[in-house]
Amino acid sequence: MKTLAVNTSRPYEIKIGRGSLDQAGVLCRQAIPNARKLTIVTDSRVLPLYLARTADSLEQMGFQIQCLTVPAGEASKSAEQLVILWEKMMAFGMTRTDAVVALGGGVVGDLAGFAAATLLRGVDYVQIPTTLLSQVDSSVGGKVAIDLRAGKNLAGAFWQPSLVIIDPGCLDTLPDRTFSDGMAEVIKYGCILDRKLFELLNRCGSRVRVMERIVDVVYTCCDLKRRVVVEDERDTGLRQLLNFGHTVGHAFELAGHYETWTHGQGVAAGMNWAAQLGVELGVTPPETVECIQELLKKFDLPLDIPCPWETMTEAVGLDKKNAGDHISLIVLEKLGQAVHRKMARDELLGLLKCMYGR
Ligand code: NAD
Ligand code: ZN
Repeated sequence: MKTLAVNTSRPYEIKIGRGSLDQAGVLCRQAIPNARKLTIVTDSRVLPLYLARTADSLEQMGFQIQCLTVPAGEASKSAEQLVILWEKMMAFGMTRTDAVVALGGGVVGDLAGFAAATLLRGVDYVQIPTTLLSQVDSSVGGKVAIDLRAGKNLAGAFWQPSLVIIDPGCLDTLPDRTFSDGMAEVIKYGCILDRKLFELLNRCGSRVRVMERIVDVVYTCCDLKRRVVVEDERDTGLRQLLNFGHTVGHAFELAGHYETWTHGQGVAAGMNWAAQLGVELGVTPPETVECIQELLKKFDLPLDIPCPWETMTEAVGLDKKNAGDHISLIVLEKLGQAVHRKMARDELLGLLKCMYGR
C-alpha cells in the first residue's frame, strides 16, 4: 500500500492500494485510536457494492457501526439530508471522540464531511472515496459542503479528514460515464502541473489501459493536489490553479441546469475553451490546444457544449457591473504549467464574443 502524508493544519495520511477497503479497520484504528462509534454514510448505489466489506473490516477492530444511506445523486447534498444525518448520529449516541466514515463518491464525501465538521462543533471523519473523481480530487483537501437552492456548494467548511483510504479496485464497477468524468480532472492535473502525467494518459488512451496503471495515476494526482493544498489550505492563491477549465466549465454545467451535462463534461469542454483563450492571449502555444483536444476525445469527453451567451457571461462573472474591472483566469503557459492571468473585463468580453461568432 502507498502512503502520502498531508501536512495541513491537521495532518493526515492518504493510503492507496487495491484491496485497501479490507484494511479499513486496521487503518482507522491507527488514525482515530480513541473512536468507539462510527457512522458510515453511503449512498444507495455504493451500499450493495462495498458496505459489507467495509463494515466487516471496521467491526473486526471493535468499532461499533451505524450505517446511514442517502439516495445516489447530487440532490442528496442538501440541508434536508444533513439534518437527518445529524439527528441520527446523535440518536446513535456519538460523542466528540467518535467519527464519521464517508463511503462513496464526492456527493457522500462532501455531505458526510460537512456533517462531521458541524456535529458537536466538529468530529473526526474518514474519507473512503469510490469514484475516480473523489479519489483524485474531492477526498483530498478538506473542502466539505452542501448545495443550496441558490447554487452548488454554498454552505460548507474547511475540515480536514483524519484519514483517506483509496481502493482503486472500487473503480472497476463505475459506469463508463462516471469514469470519464473523473478522467477530466485527471487530465486537468496533467495540463496544469504534470506534463509526464499528460503523456502517460495519452499513451494509455483508454479506460482499460489506464486501469492497468491506476495505482500510479491516482497516487500522482493525490500527490499533486496534496502539494497545492498544503501550500494554500484556505484557497487564497495557488489552489486556484485547480480551477483550470472550471470557470467556463461552470457555464456549461449551468446551461444544462446541472442535469444534462456532468461536472466532468463541463470541465472537459471548459479546458478546451480555456486553452483557446490562452492562445488568444498569446500565453498558450497553439499546438497545446490540439494535444488537449486529442486526449479529451480518447476518454469520450466533449470539446464543446451548447451554452446561451447570457449563461456564459453570468457564469464567468461578466454580467455583474460590481465584479470589478478585471477577471481572473487560469491559462496554460505550456502543457504541465498553468498561470494566473488577470484580464480586463472588456478584453475577455471581446474574446468570448469572437469565439461565439458575434
Ligand atoms: P457521485 O458521488 O454522485 O457519484 C457518481 C455516481 O457513481 C453515483 O450514482 C454513485 O452512487 C455512483 N458510484 C460511486 N462509487 C461507485 C462505484 N465504485 N461503482 C459504481 N457506482 C459508484 O459523484 P462524484 O462525481 O463522485 O462527485 C461529484 C461531487 O463531488 C459534486 O457534488 C461536486 O461538487 C463534489 N466535488 C467536491 C470537491 C471538493 O473539493 N470537496 C471537488 C470536486 C467535486
Ligand atoms: Zn472539478
